[in-house]
Amino acid sequence: MKRIGIDLGGTKIDAIALSAAGDAVFEKRIATPRSYDGIVSAIGELVQAAGDGTVGIGAPGSLSRKTGLWRNANILVCNGKPFQHDLQAAIGRTVKMENDANCFALSEAIDGAGQGYAVVAFFTVGTALGGGLVANGKLVVGANGEAGEFGHTALPWPNETEWPLLPCFCGKKGCAEQYVSGTGLARDHLRVTGEDVSGKEIVARARGGDVNAVASLTRLQDRFARVAANIACVVDPDVFVIGGGLSELPELVEQLPQLISRYSFSGTAEARVVRARHGEKSGVRGAARLWG
Ligand SMILES: [Zn+2]
Repeated sequence: MKRIGIDLGGTKIDAIALSAAGDAVFEKRIATPRSYDGIVSAIGELVQAAGDGTVGIGAPGSLSRKTGLWRNANILVCNGKPFQHDLQAAIGRTVKMENDANCFALSEAIDGAGQGYAVVAFFTVGTALGGGLVANGKLVVGANGEAGEFGHTALPWPNETEWPLLPCFCGKKGCAEQYVSGTGLARDHLRVTGEDVSGKEIVARARGGDVNAVASLTRLQDRFARVAANIACVVDPDVFVIGGGLSELPELVEQLPQLISRYSFSGTAEARVVRARHGEKSGVRGAARLWG
């Protein structure tokens, strides 16, 4: 039986079919339609093209167990819709759906950089900060589907320069995502230096030796380490796997273990931090794995 995965993103939808051995036997990418109905029928067509098999779908946001409606997605047309129900009707099969960062985490835990570790904490650091937690090969989703939402844990141990805490789109203040993300990096750099440039540009300048850019990345790293050390106080994962655009920065990942250790409860913890193996394909591969 093939495992079909779909990864819905803001600009593209990826499809994959994995053989029983885990090899990709079908892959397709299309642009994301603008309307909700367009998205539902496009996913239906991708699954038809992939053929028979189980269907797992990863998408931004999550399913409310209470109402059966999709919520918190940055693809706004999907919010408040019976997304899973409509997709099942379009596809004609039962589908499993999960938050996209959770799919990423599952993929990396099963046959990616977290393979072989019992407890895997996954971060995707891009425009936003996504997270996922996998224990013994199973996603930890939680009673309300909110486990592993590391981006909306609070920035731990803020220093004097970090007050007042920044507002988050979720309605609270001080969420980790507002600091540990490409968007957060750019805003922090602007606040401190007055230079309005993208996260990507800051990284490029830091590599060129720009002192201000290096300082901005150092602040990001320190905050990232605090967020990770805070998570270690709850689950002390065997490995942290880092994906997303900022994970392409080897120096960011390389220095994290020693910084996490500094913020750990004992002050000496040895954190293992690795970069994701499957890159942006982790999302669709993890969606295909939702059926096990
Ligand atoms: Zn938030």
